[in-house]
Amino acid sequence: MAVYDPKSMKAEDFINDEEILATLEYAEANKNNAELIDEILEKARPVKTENGCTCAGLTHREASVLLATELPDKIEKMYEIAEEIKLAFYGNRIVLFAPLYLSNYCVNGCLYCPYHLKNKHIARKKLTQEEVRKEVIALQDMGHKRLAIEAGEDPVNNPIEYILDCINTIYGVHHKNGDIRRVNVNIAATTVENYRKLKEAGIGTYILFQETYHKKGYEELHPTGPKHDYAYHTEAMDRAMEGGIDDVGLGVLFGLEKYKYEFAGLLMHAEHLEAVHGVGPHTISVPRVKKADDIDPDMFDNGISDEIFTKIAACIRLAVPYTGMIISTRETAAVREKLLRVGISQVSGGSRTSVGGYAEEERPHDTEQFDVSDQRTLDEVVSWLMDSGHIPSFCTACYRAGRTGDRFMSLCKSGQILNCCHPNALMTLAEYLEDYASPDTKEKGYRMIEEELKKIPSEKVRTVAEENIAAIRSSDRRDFRF
Ligand code: SF4
Ligand code: SF4
Repeated sequence: MAVYDPKSMKAEDFINDEEILATLEYAEANKNNAELIDEILEKARPVKTENGCTCAGLTHREASVLLATELPDKIEKMYEIAEEIKLAFYGNRIVLFAPLYLSNYCVNGCLYCPYHLKNKHIARKKLTQEEVRKEVIALQDMGHKRLAIEAGEDPVNNPIEYILDCINTIYGVHHKNGDIRRVNVNIAATTVENYRKLKEAGIGTYILFQETYHKKGYEELHPTGPKHDYAYHTEAMDRAMEGGIDDVGLGVLFGLEKYKYEFAGLLMHAEHLEAVHGVGPHTISVPRVKKADDIDPDMFDNGISDEIFTKIAACIRLAVPYTGMIISTRETAAVREKLLRVGISQVSGGSRTSVGGYAEEERPHDTEQFDVSDQRTLDEVVSWLMDSGHIPSFCTACYRAGRTGDRFMSLCKSGQILNCCHPNALMTLAEYLEDYASPDTKEKGYRMIEEELKKIPSEKVRTVAEENIAAIRSSDRRDFRF
């Protein structure tokens, strides 16, 4: 029988059903326990230190109590603290990225995804290396520096060698002043050996959504194909870490199963990684089930409102303060704006979720994975972020300086973020403004840079950042970083 043990390497022990059910019971019993909730909120609050500040985070039980609470003043306080944490560790910077779909061939039968094997009317497509190049040029021409590649699971059409070739092609394209500096990879659970190959190919984060932590639900939602194996899928991050990848990205597809269950499972997964590997997840993504070809989100009866969605994001921010949080163009601009305040640190912009979509003039729909709610261009997203007081950042410095895994976490905890992430964000924004922005965005951006430079505490760092930005404006020199 499975027993809860965060250090176990067995999925059913570290994502233990009994422990989740006991957590939900505890949360339900204490959801209006104002005294306990205040204690939990105080524990989550950032504490000032000599260098900056530090955060204790929360256990899955504590965070589940917050998620369950219905007390309006406590929910308000939770949002305030989430915003405090966000500002302390991420400031007003938002990192931008784009997904790149390589192939929609897939042998799995996931009920919520249009790429499932039985969908015979969706057009199947796999990019050739020449087509990958075209996509990357189109993405570089938009201004992107960071991609997340996506491919279905298909050992014949998309073997690991194909993925590795694509990564190689992507890093090799240098169009005008553009380059892709970090390739994150979102492909099916695989072997330690294949993770090692991905690491050697220079990937950034390995992302794999759990979809649902509820084993029985998981098996029903994945009736056929290799993904049916719950344990193999859930233990993938351990194999990735064994293969040398120390930045891993978790995610749940909210709407498939009950959100409180998923939330507790997600945090238990993070606790497991920390307990076993000494480093928690680099990122957590919060996608919701969306409409797509052959998929109607109403088929799943666990959909969550925007309000609950915001509460989930805030609770994740409190529980794992050093983990980046990602939201995609699945969400509308209005929802994205709300979530940015309570903790999101990365957003996608100008995304096309079809295979080969960026090189097409018109947005194609025939191979899309899901309907994109936010259809704005990257320039519009950049401009919107600045209007709401956020600095759009194209920074990839940590990965390139080898600051991954625990070294990245030390930077987060060191209080040096204002001397590091902040100038990097401004320099990469200047690159974007110089090379890709519309005249309005450019003007707005330089005004923002001027103001934001003043916030860099170290005079030395500020002077270097100013000099670098002047060089970006007056020459083709690029890629400065701290
Ligand atoms: S979610 Fe992934 S594995 Fe499942 S059908 Fe879609 S592409 Fe294939
Ligand atoms: S310096 Fe590192 S942590 Fe900061 S924004 Fe850049 S990549 Fe992220």
